Amino acid sequence: MAKLELADIDITGKRVLVRVDFNVPLKDGKITDETRITAALPTLLDLIHRNAKIILVTHLGRPTVGSSTDREELSTAPIAIALSQKLGKRITHVQDCIGEDVQSAVESLEGGEILLLENVRFYAEETDNDSEFAKQLASLADVYVNDAFGTAHRAHASTEGVTHYLTTCATGLLMAREIHYLSMSLENPERPYIAILGGAKISDKITLIENLLGKVDNLLIGGGMAYTFLAAIGVSIGNSLVEKEKLDVAASLIKKKGFADTVLLPVDHIAGQTFDPETESQIVNEVAVPDGWQGLDIGPKTVAVFSERIASAKTVVWNGPLGVYEFKKFAQGTISVAKKIAASDTVSIIGGGDCVAAIQQAGVADRITHVSTGGGASLEFLEGKPLPGITALTDK
Ligand code: AMP
Repeated sequence: MAKLELADIDITGKRVLVRVDFNVPLKDGKITDETRITAALPTLLDLIHRNAKIILVTHLGRPTVGSSTDREELSTAPIAIALSQKLGKRITHVQDCIGEDVQSAVESLEGGEILLLENVRFYAEETDNDSEFAKQLASLADVYVNDAFGTAHRAHASTEGVTHYLTTCATGLLMAREIHYLSMSLENPERPYIAILGGAKISDKITLIENLLGKVDNLLIGGGMAYTFLAAIGVSIGNSLVEKEKLDVAASLIKKKGFADTVLLPVDHIAGQTFDPETESQIVNEVAVPDGWQGLDIGPKTVAVFSERIASAKTVVWNGPLGVYEFKKFAQGTISVAKKIAASDTVSIIGGGDCVAAIQQAGVADRITHVSTGGGASLEFLEGKPLPGITALTDK
């Protein structure tokens, strides 16, 4: 069911509670990456333009409830400063999320002004999805907008609970964009449609593989997870990463209808002697990894095979790096695939922190159709699971 969007609702002069994802990385009290703040700007500019009274709520890190150090270090106050610089307007920060001080700060808001609440995870009631806390948050506003895709897979008070106490609950522009691209890839992708999966482990991606088989035309698997599949079909993998306890699961996935026709595994590797950036490395020109070596990247033949599929694809979904891209010697496979996707005309949808970092490293982020802002949330969406933060919003 399609969800109510910001464009569908009248917000002029109304108090709008916006759940944003300002969970930015911090070092010594300074924000080291403002991507998440920038990502919320379209929604905020729209709300300002439409004269709404804007109340922003976010979590920041994982504070221990009651810890005074965390209260200081994980306060949202620096975000108010960063946001005010971006928007060129004053942002009021309040040191709480609920209560009288917050109520009076809301009452003082004029149309187009912004109030940023304190870190909502300073309250245990947030992650407990406590109904009384959710009700108090909801009492601040007339309308609720959720633009925090990154936490949409969690049923918390500010993502799910609050929707029970407000009649109009809509998606923000960022959330709507995430839903648009991710559901397009599941429901009516332009074909050929390929998915590329990598990363360390298959255990995190079993449900995803099951859901994608039967939907995609090809599933390209690289990264550490490929070795558990290779081991399950009896290929020697040397000292490569393997999840021994998942060999049975890998073997049963391999037997599934469609697996053999759909899935492409690495046919060669860049191997290292140890898991170390300076380790001796070699191209292993065949599928088996020699004893004493570990596969740490896909090899050039695999890059060529994957590139050929990417070049003819109309839709590509990618989650997880294809090698240890953090080490220069083993980054080439991931970087080459990123560049190939960027150079093709395909609709490209990329998720997961490592893949986003890799496309930034490759310098091609602006050539990707949609870079998802939610790692866990985009994985669960692609697994076909309903996300509570989206399900709870008002139907169109
Ligand atoms: P994940 O969190 O499961 O997406 O895994 C991401 C991590 O997988 C990255 O830190 C990569 O360095 C790592 N990775 C990718 N390929 C390999 C590989 N062949 N061997 C070991 N680790 C890998």
